[in-house]
Amino acid sequence: MSKIPVGILGATGIVGQRLLTLLDQHPWFEPVWLAASERSEGKSYAVAARWRLAQPLPARFAGMQVQAPEPENCPARVVLAALDSTAAARLEPAFAAAGHMVISNSSALRMHPDVPLLVPEVNPEHLQLLERQRAGEFGRKGGGVVTNPNCSTIGLVLALAPLARSFGLQRVQVTTLQAISGAGYPGVAALDIVGNVIPYIAQEEEKMESETRKILGRLTATGIEDAGTRVSAQCNRVAVEDGHMESVSVELEHKAGLDEVRAAMASFRGRPQELALPTAPAQPLIIVEAADRPQPRFDAERAGMSVLVGRLRACPVFDYKFTLLSHNTLRGAAGAALLNAEWMRAEKRLSAE
Ligand code: NAP
Repeated sequence: MSKIPVGILGATGIVGQRLLTLLDQHPWFEPVWLAASERSEGKSYAVAARWRLAQPLPARFAGMQVQAPEPENCPARVVLAALDSTAAARLEPAFAAAGHMVISNSSALRMHPDVPLLVPEVNPEHLQLLERQRAGEFGRKGGGVVTNPNCSTIGLVLALAPLARSFGLQRVQVTTLQAISGAGYPGVAALDIVGNVIPYIAQEEEKMESETRKILGRLTATGIEDAGTRVSAQCNRVAVEDGHMESVSVELEHKAGLDEVRAAMASFRGRPQELALPTAPAQPLIIVEAADRPQPRFDAERAGMSVLVGRLRACPVFDYKFTLLSHNTLRGAAGAALLNAEWMRAEKRLSAE
């Protein structure tokens, strides 16, 4: 099988770097075009990207020349996008309107009523929203836009999905402790974050609340009907390199025992697992038994594309509470976009032309 060529917008950033490491040995996709800002344009990738990952930069990408982000110069129909959100708001619609299928990490188009906000384990059917794009601004030349959620929303919805399915979800309260890498490079100034906690991340709480309702919502003939679950989020930036932790309390619609809740989470599987998609984790949710885990330093890398759930217990205010950990640039960004691309290919929504 020949691979589908892909372009990468924002290839030099933290998420772009993760994408390249994941694509290096990917069985279905081949990066053929890398683009970033004027700062990087014309340079070799190795010079333009400030490489931030422990894994070395794959040698075959090091010498590729970084291109200007112009749709007419991108030879690949499929484009994975990891752009700064201001640039994304301008460039993603332009690429889609020019006929590219844009699979994006950015917030710019996530809440557009015709754009799927996709987590293939949770709401695979929302991909059908692409039909609604055909007649609109993105689809005129056969292009489209599919997004993945914000990095803290994705861990939350994966943990909530089995509870929503099995018992219904009335209310959710979540407090996050988010890694610095979630702010991109160079991110938060050292003097602000070292030895400190910042109880504010611009727009993050609003994103978690609205995105969660859209993802857990129902696909109808007229678009997505948001879930009725009430969600309250409080977001903090902490001095951790990778891995977002979240303390979550949930109120169920139909009461259930602790063992039932645990079993619903542990047995949760979706279409990516049934199809064994290349980037899908065998188990989306892993229950951690140790009383003081998960912890970002020890558990973020091993979590990979899974979400670790620990400290599951009764809540005296709501019904249950737990701590979750997900890798923000992997499950929360690059891996999420790649899994979306794999699901789209499985659904025959991706063609090279
Ligand atoms: P980043 O490290 O700041 O990288 C931003 C990328 O956008 C770089 O490649 C940059 O190119 C490019 N860019 C900036 N301005 C541009 C312009 N005017 N034209 C073309 N390219 C431009 O950010 P990141 O952490 O990788 O995040 C990328 C996106 O994913 C953001 O929208 C972010 O919100 C989202 N996201 C991030 C995470 C995370 O955990 N980091 C998680 C989920 C979603 P240069 O290098 O040339 O400046």
